[in-house]
Amino acid sequence: MISLLSLSLDEIKDAVKDLGFKPFRGEQLYTALIKGIAVDKISTLSKDFITVINQKYNLTPLRLKTKLESQDGTIKFAGVLSDGNIIETVIMKYKYGYTVCVSTQVGCRMGCKFCASTRGGLVRDLDAGEILAQVIMANTIIGERVTNIVLMGCGEPLDNYANVVRFIKLANSSKGLNISIRHISLSTCGLVDKIKMLADEGLGINLTISLHAPNDEIRKTFMPIANRYTIKEILEACDYYFGKTGRRIYFEYTLSTLNDSLDNARELARLLKGRVCHVNVIRLNEATGALTASSTDKAKAFVKELNRSGISATLRRSLGADIEGACGQLKNRLEDEV
Ligand code: SF4
Repeated sequence: MISLLSLSLDEIKDAVKDLGFKPFRGEQLYTALIKGIAVDKISTLSKDFITVINQKYNLTPLRLKTKLESQDGTIKFAGVLSDGNIIETVIMKYKYGYTVCVSTQVGCRMGCKFCASTRGGLVRDLDAGEILAQVIMANTIIGERVTNIVLMGCGEPLDNYANVVRFIKLANSSKGLNISIRHISLSTCGLVDKIKMLADEGLGINLTISLHAPNDEIRKTFMPIANRYTIKEILEACDYYFGKTGRRIYFEYTLSTLNDSLDNARELARLLKGRVCHVNVIRLNEATGALTASSTDKAKAFVKELNRSGISATLRRSLGADIEGACGQLKNRLEDEV
């Protein structure tokens, strides 16, 4: 059953009207759900109304299961979907406000070796309302509105293209969460055709590529998607995205002992030279045990070499390391405990 939150306000009003109620009842329901008010606590609507809507639409797409808080202020929570699947969401605190990192699928079929989400493969896509419900739950948990959204949790967002694009439009809608499009970022392992489709949507969100290697040979050793798309094809898609949106492209580069030499940094710099981009370097979180993390010194030297070669790059903090911060870790533990 589709989540009601997958619909826009106008669509909800139409749906409510089709079920024999006045459209403004739909608006009351939508306003309450966006604010995170539980269905049984909505005082302005009758039980009969809720019962009828509930028979056709899922009004409670996500229930909080557990919440962990890091010493650095990062909060990670696991939510249970109506079919019993568990997803996880992370809230990060920055100087400018809160950013929520949402999951877009239950599991993932991309099989990156450094990622815990991949353990059980892809279970299913989330609908737009199930993604939106994570942002609403984050607002409820912190008691204020998050200002930024990153689609960087479990799942490959562009492998769930239609639902993700719908979610972005809903989150950005002035009648919904009203989050600025400039404050929404999507991270992909590099699905070339979908990057071009996203460029053509004209949304102008920030695009991040999980690159993690300076050449295809290394990339193939831990990212199966590299057998489908070359780095050259991905960069061409990025150029197309930049041409359409004018948005700087971000590259994620997770450092392990497989890709952390200064030669690797120089090769990466040659690859990105001339592009309007920024590289976020992060030390591997050894969640899956498949790869070995680089030392902090190596990570600093890698970033320095990129900067020396004229590439904008920073070493990112690994937030929430004490609360199973890498994607998929909390979910996997909860499933192990069941
Ligand atoms: S890193 Fe992203 S694309 Fe790769 S397996 Fe994990 S969730 Fe999927």
